[in-house]
Amino acid sequence: MKTQDELKRQLRQIDRKGYKAYKTLEGEYRFGSYLLCIDHVQGDPFATPSRVRLRYQNRIPEEYFESRHRKTAAEDYLLRRLHRNLRSGGKERRGSGKSGLITACRVGQEILERTAVLLSPETIEARLEIGFPAYGRTIAAGELEEILFVSLPEIARKTCSFDAGMKRELEETAALADDQQYIREALAKQGLAAFLADGSILPRESGVSQRPMKGAVPFRSPESAAVTLQLPHRGPTRGMGIRQGITVIVGGGYHGKSTLLKAVERGVYNHISGDGREYVITDETAFKLRAEEGRCIHQVDISLFISNLPSRADTEAFVTENASGSTSQAANTVEALACGSRVLLIDEDTSATNFMVRDDRMARLVEDRKEPITPFIRFIRSLYTDLGVSTILVAGSSGAYLSVADTVLQMDCYEAREVTKKAKELAEKVTEGKAERKRWVKKPISPRRIEKARVHGWDTVSFDKTEVDLRYLEQIVDETQTAALAYLIPWLLEKGADGKRTAVELALLAEEKIRKDGLLSMVPRNYGAGAPAAVRALEILACLQRYRMI
Ligand code: ADP
Ligand code: MG
Repeated sequence: MKTQDELKRQLRQIDRKGYKAYKTLEGEYRFGSYLLCIDHVQGDPFATPSRVRLRYQNRIPEEYFESRHRKTAAEDYLLRRLHRNLRSGGKERRGSGKSGLITACRVGQEILERTAVLLSPETIEARLEIGFPAYGRTIAAGELEEILFVSLPEIARKTCSFDAGMKRELEETAALADDQQYIREALAKQGLAAFLADGSILPRESGVSQRPMKGAVPFRSPESAAVTLQLPHRGPTRGMGIRQGITVIVGGGYHGKSTLLKAVERGVYNHISGDGREYVITDETAFKLRAEEGRCIHQVDISLFISNLPSRADTEAFVTENASGSTSQAANTVEALACGSRVLLIDEDTSATNFMVRDDRMARLVEDRKEPITPFIRFIRSLYTDLGVSTILVAGSSGAYLSVADTVLQMDCYEAREVTKKAKELAEKVTEGKAERKRWVKKPISPRRIEKARVHGWDTVSFDKTEVDLRYLEQIVDETQTAALAYLIPWLLEKGADGKRTAVELALLAEEKIRKDGLLSMVPRNYGAGAPAAVRALEILACLQRYRMI
């Protein structure tokens, strides 16, 4: 380890040299009370900024990060605080390209287990990106000196010092985290798949903003579905409990059905104070299913839903480079089951109609044995009674699912009502099939070395130039999770794949390792795609299964 004086000397030596000379700065430096690690220096002023880590002495009392949920929340709080200080203290661009820009990993409305700020009893570690300054391609060492010796220490000090203001905010953060964790644990105990507190704001500002809509109608539970939970800090909290089993959400177009389902989808994560969905909590294995025409499928057993294809393709180990709406949704369903999902979330709007239902008239015209698809509706009951998997489904136009529902909720001008009894009067008989657990995902994965993984926005990752389309994984919330996949998949293919394990086993292995050793144990030292946030096994599996080269 070197000293800050050595860094200063080195900086002065490389001033006005070619940009590549910045590489010589990589290393660790001791600055009085903290440590500065220059992990990776960018190749030129226009490349992804350089990666720098600060390790500060931690003076935050341990009570604020003693449990896993409190730690995640406190780290998230510190990252947001860092962002505030970067906005006020981060200097503008100085020089060419990304010169002088200081940034930290982006944050949205969700509180994710991240790596941008890490707390331990001794230290606070923050990962930042800095555009090392240049004029043209000539090193502007004086500018970097100011950043590393003036701006950065000031930003770090402001972010990390434990004062009365931070204490109050950390207390609020911990209280919210406790309450959210309490609801999560209460779900299983009370037989619920999800809970939505009264007063929650479900709709978002716009299609491109996850902020709460202003002037929205607050959510309120119908009396019959209301549950009151005794939250440790907030106290008695009334809300709608969506019971395990089969819940169908009906209502006219534009009455708020999809908005409700989206809130439930995102409820697998905790949300920040002020989001409106702080007390919307969903079973953390809930998975959004949809049709995804064009995805690839690697030896997945979709025979429950699809058999006797005219092409005679084997649907017990179905392979395609270009799935149809129904085969893709069938694969999405069994993959989620294989990965341990306990709650399936489906919106009729984004489903393949022939996967969902087949009406009577059609069944009479085209006999069952000529139709390769057995629709989801036939198994929805058995999925719950035999496999313990619940379904929450939005159905705007087809009444078929009313017959199989345990609960029917109606959204009426954004207001939820329970209409189970009325719906049951209209119910018709449904032929039911039986679902059994099996080895749905069959392909053994061979080891493979990936040289270059890149993230292109939140919805695409590429491995050695082969793109993986993540657009339809609606529960990936931002680029930091995509970054995690960019690290995890190469790690799994190199270290986990052995020609025997399937993608499901690899995904579960990664999740287990994240829990045991932390996400960083699978992230390369120079964390080229930025500081990642944790993803679930469900998304890891989904990414592996969409990678055409496995
Ligand atoms: P549906 O799926 O029933 O057709 P959506 O959920 O897509 O309806 O909602 C339709 C519109 O209403 C959306 O623009 C949404 O933002 C808005 N919206 C949904 N819930 C509320 C609410 N509680 N208050 C105000 N506007 C809402
Ligand atoms: Mg809709």
